[in-house]
Amino acid sequence: MSKYNGTFSCGHDGVVEVFGPTKSREWIADRKFENLCSDCYEEKKIQDRKDALASAVEQDLPTLTGTKKQINWAIVIRQNLIDIWENQYKQSTEEKDIEYNKRMASILEYILYRYTAAEFYIDNFRYSFNISYLLTKYGAEYDKQQELAAISPNEKDIAEITAEITLYPEKQKHKVPVEIKINDNIIKAISPKNEKFKDLVKYELFGWSQDERCWMRKIRTINGTPSDRAAELANKLLSAGFAVIASDAEVREKAISAAFEPEHFKWIEKLKISYVPEHIKDKYY
Ligand SMILES: [Zn+2]
Repeated sequence: MSKYNGTFSCGHDGVVEVFGPTKSREWIADRKFENLCSDCYEEKKIQDRKDALASAVEQDLPTLTGTKKQINWAIVIRQNLIDIWENQYKQSTEEKDIEYNKRMASILEYILYRYTAAEFYIDNFRYSFNISYLLTKYGAEYDKQQELAAISPNEKDIAEITAEITLYPEKQKHKVPVEIKINDNIIKAISPKNEKFKDLVKYELFGWSQDERCWMRKIRTINGTPSDRAAELANKLLSAGFAVIASDAEVREKAISAAFEPEHFKWIEKLKISYVPEHIKDKYY
């Protein structure tokens, strides 16, 4: 190892240590003096981070997630990415340049909003990155996402569809509607936690499913049809002041008109089941 005295690019004097073959040591030392001194380098790092942060706020970029150190590093990398793109961006009136710039800006925007983990920027761009590499690597992913966005309904569509399949009680007492779904012979009742709702579904012989995180009931032939049972539940929920979302038109119709076949508990007798739950005894004949 040899020590060399010299002046760094920032104008500060200092010493650098050089290892390796003796012949090239002086040349390596000269390259090192082309950099900033260690104090200025640290200062620059802090300044870069501050600039990147200010710029992120100005551009409304998403907050990065990760450890403090990861974020400090990634925020600078992310800003470099933007700077490189801006340096390459050429104001041009040529059709192909306009197309290229438009596509590149869209892909870059996609990356910046899609990827917010600090790790992503460190893993992918810590050593180097170039714009055409980005275009190739994330272009296909961006195209696919665009395709999906085009076919999936937007928020307005979803709101309209939901409104069409929601039944409202005369006087709504609970803000969030209960959703009733039928899957073959299983009825699901989905609602945020609500004691009144819980009492009601329990009364209708629904059980809590830990896996599905909702109340469910399996309908057997002796219980009638799933749509009758779902309509009966919907009808009772409406009477109790709940709005009900049911995508099944038959369920909605029967729930409003109360035209469902009531559940026949006399089957219980025919099947010689000795236990009748307390709350359905009055239906038991
Ligand atoms: Zn310095």
